[in-house]
Amino acid sequence: MKSSFSLSGIAVSQGIAIGRAYVITNTAMETLHYLVLEEEIEAEVGRLEAALTSVREELAILRTALPEDAPAELGALIEVHAMILTDEMFSKEPFNIIRTRRYNAEWALMTQIEEMSAKFDNITDPYLRERKADLEQVAERVIKTLTGVKEEKPVPTGNNDQVDLIVVAYNVSPADMLQFRESFFKGFVSGTGGQNSHAAIIARGTDVPAVFGLSNALQLIRQNDWLVVDADAGIVIVNPTPLILEQYRIKQSVQQKARRRLSRLRKMAATTLDGTTIELLANIEFPEDCHTVIDNNADGVGLFRSEFLFMERSGGINLFPDEEEQFDAYRQAVVLLKGRPVTIRTLDIGADKVLPSSEKAKALNPALGRRAIRYCLTEPDVFLTQLRAILRASAFGPVKLLLPMVAHGSEVDQALGFIEEAKTQLRSQGLPFDESVQVGAMIEVPAAVLALPMFTSRLDFLSIGTNDLIQYALAVDRVNPEVAHLYNPLHPAILAMLRMTVDHAGKAGIPVSICGEMASDHQLTRLLLGLGLRQFSMHPGQLLKVKQEVLLSNLDILTPKVDRILTLSEEKEIAMAVQDLHQEEMSI
Ligand code: PEP
Ligand code: MG
Repeated sequence: MKSSFSLSGIAVSQGIAIGRAYVITNTAMETLHYLVLEEEIEAEVGRLEAALTSVREELAILRTALPEDAPAELGALIEVHAMILTDEMFSKEPFNIIRTRRYNAEWALMTQIEEMSAKFDNITDPYLRERKADLEQVAERVIKTLTGVKEEKPVPTGNNDQVDLIVVAYNVSPADMLQFRESFFKGFVSGTGGQNSHAAIIARGTDVPAVFGLSNALQLIRQNDWLVVDADAGIVIVNPTPLILEQYRIKQSVQQKARRRLSRLRKMAATTLDGTTIELLANIEFPEDCHTVIDNNADGVGLFRSEFLFMERSGGINLFPDEEEQFDAYRQAVVLLKGRPVTIRTLDIGADKVLPSSEKAKALNPALGRRAIRYCLTEPDVFLTQLRAILRASAFGPVKLLLPMVAHGSEVDQALGFIEEAKTQLRSQGLPFDESVQVGAMIEVPAAVLALPMFTSRLDFLSIGTNDLIQYALAVDRVNPEVAHLYNPLHPAILAMLRMTVDHAGKAGIPVSICGEMASDHQLTRLLLGLGLRQFSMHPGQLLKVKQEVLLSNLDILTPKVDRILTLSEEKEIAMAVQDLHQEEMSI
């Protein structure tokens, strides 16, 4: 029996996943993973056959084209590669995997290679162990050929009669998460990444248990190991004993029951015990997410992270969706929400949300570079295309426009100029849109908090992005697990900034919502209510938990308590006081 042990990391979502490890190396990470439909199996087999033939021909050409004076080893190496290709591990096994597990060709090949690589690791003879590199090089050749052959996006299916799988990878980027988002993977374990990385946000949004920041996961977890991902505690148990497994299965079913109980709150208004109704909105990445928004009966969408439409493109080609494609996506969201408002944020790329072939390597500090509004203002065609698409969607229902990462009044002025230009273009084309679309901005740069009148004087509404606000105010990279312990939403500086924003916006008569991850954390709901926030935007999956908290809160009781918390200067004291506040029994 394999030895059982546990690893401790950063809990980035909630719940428990039980399944077998699907370990993904860096090369494999770049390949696509999806299930093919029953009727597509033979076509997929054909695709792999064609790729193998093409690589065989490629190697033969390489061999004959070798110059006379080329080192003899080079020729021998090509021979070895050609031989590997004819071995059963390439010519037979991957085909079996496609047929039995319905994996796509790339995935089937990588699965086979990973299994073979693990066997090579156990070989003591150093020469033979070295052959592992040859194996991987040949596999890369085939994968490259495959990826070149098939350009269109795969359609992942949700059905799988295999055992549940848990992805284990060194680094799960937001783009990788998108690739897996509709797959049947039941959990994620990543060697890097923090609570507030965008990959973590997607894990929460899709309600998949995930533990990140386990730097030695790839060394310690083997392909097919049984795993329990306990995302509540931030631990991963590898090869659990039958007793532990049983306990986790019980815990899992208790959680499922609790969820069902929560669903009874669905129809109720989010009204506090003293009678104040709180607006609970949803954060989404794709129009399809609106189904979950409706399922949880949110009041609308407070943050549509439009950049995910741009990041979804796989295959390394930087192809932005054109105006029609964007318009379709925004309109779909608006139509699905049937009159509830949809706040669409303009493209917020940069930092960890890099596009497939964007300039990621160029900037030393990408989070401080040409990100979000800075990118859009320097790419007028991209910005105008998006603005036209968003405005056109406003003809189908209430739409608000949200600008990310503003720090200067001039940025807002320029953005408003572009919005006017987009409107003029639509008018001249006779395309309908809502003339009175509201424009707001994310408050996520500390300078914006300290110079709020610059924004309240120019905009219709504000939305606080605590994820970046914390990152920039505390100088803590939100995706770096090494500094994750310093990323504290309850730092007195952060609470002071939230209060300042709410107060200034209130005086200016401008509505302010909160859409960072703090809004999703029901343990912070009372704190945020006491700070004066009345609009929360979060993952739809968290909405009922937050609603329950609102229903049990009395603003008259908690407001003076939060005023007192704001006078505290020690992080630990604040954490304790917030916990007490969360646990306090409140009545009318
Ligand atoms: C934020 O920064 O809090 C936010 C909501 O935006 P994002 O997480 O997409 O950067
Ligand atoms: Mg942000």
